[in-house]
Amino acid sequence: MSCKKLEGKVAIVTGGARGIGKSISEKLASEGASLVLVDVLLEVAEQTAKEFEAKGVKALAVKADVSKLSEAEAAVAKTIEHFGSVDILVNNAGITKDTLLLRMTAEDWQKVIDINLTGAFNFIKAIVRPMMKKGGKIVNISSVVGKMGNVGQANYSASKAGLIGLTKTVAKEFASRNITCNAIAPGFIATEMTHKLPQAAIDAFLMVTPMKRPGTPDDVAKAVCFFCTEDSAYITGQVLNVDGGLLM
Ligand code: NAP
Repeated sequence: MSCKKLEGKVAIVTGGARGIGKSISEKLASEGASLVLVDVLLEVAEQTAKEFEAKGVKALAVKADVSKLSEAEAAVAKTIEHFGSVDILVNNAGITKDTLLLRMTAEDWQKVIDINLTGAFNFIKAIVRPMMKKGGKIVNISSVVGKMGNVGQANYSASKAGLIGLTKTVAKEFASRNITCNAIAPGFIATEMTHKLPQAAIDAFLMVTPMKRPGTPDDVAKAVCFFCTEDSAYITGQVLNVDGGLLM
């Protein structure tokens, strides 16, 4: 008998083809889950799905813009058509459009809210009905800046704070259906998203991080995986900081 914790489970990971999302996908697959990689760019998702399949992992690439409810619904329908059910949703897709509020355009505000916050709402909305039949796990990737704010990130920090409210409400509304909903708040994680930050901003983050190193995508993936397994069966509505001690 296999002792993998997610054997037979099907997981949708938005933005699962690269960055933190890809590490989350790898970790869930290592515990036996089949994967649905959602990305705006089909080629990126297909490439990653091929890499997984070469390692014996069942993986499906799905093109969807998370900010469109109809595309989220189509992605969930495709998942169920392909795998027969869905057990796990990780809302990981996210973008930044950083600038000081004085310079922030309404478009830059809206775009970040649409993808980071409405994107999670769309996938949760599309998935809860099928998930209600046998329970499930939802994990939202928030951020420490959703708790503490950050200069130049009014749109991003508002979207990540919104995800915390969404997480707690979904946890309350679906607890009786055996659906847990938790969030991860990563600190500074070394990915393409953070490579484009100015060095001064990186140094400032590391200065206030007690562990004095950036986190890795795998650091985040391990915490996400905990919320996807029965190890966290009685835990819902929580926000776990994965931040090297930045917030405590
Ligand atoms: P990333 O490397 O930029 O990856 C983001 C992923 O989201 C990409 O796969 C991207 O797809 C996808 N995506 C963007 N817009 C989308 C849309 N409209 N529909 C579907 N997918 C979309 O970023 P990351 O650093 O891995 O971040 C992953 C998550 O962690 C984000 O939610 C981010 O806010 C959060 N986070 C990151 C850090 C950090 O320090 N890196 C800290 C806290 C929280 P494409 O490949 O098509 O662009």
